[in-house]
Amino acid sequence: MTKKKTATPHTKQTKPSSRHKAGRGHCLKLLRQLSAYIDGELASDICKEIRSHLGACPNCEVFILSLQQTVILCRHRPVPPLKSADRVALRRAILKKANAK
Ligand SMILES: [Zn+2]
Repeated sequence: MTKKKTATPHTKQTKPSSRHKAGRGHCLKLLRQLSAYIDGELASDICKEIRSHLGACPNCEVFILSLQQTVILCRHRPVPPLKSADRVALRRAILKKANAK
């Protein structure tokens, strides 16, 4: 009979990554990044974080799906022409900013 020592000198036991807590703070933090996520502007590690959250959080998953749908719909629509009144107001606002310097 040989007794093996159970000492583990170098390898620390890594905790199994704690399951997603449906914390609102986490969801909110994520929601702020969602539009950038959909546009593919986020770093890959943040994308991974978001994807794993989406897998665990049905609320956010539904939300991002509908957001994606909306973005797709918007992209396929032609940009509506500006009303002339809006155009004038916009030009005025731009000129005002430019002149303010
Ligand atoms: Zn969530």
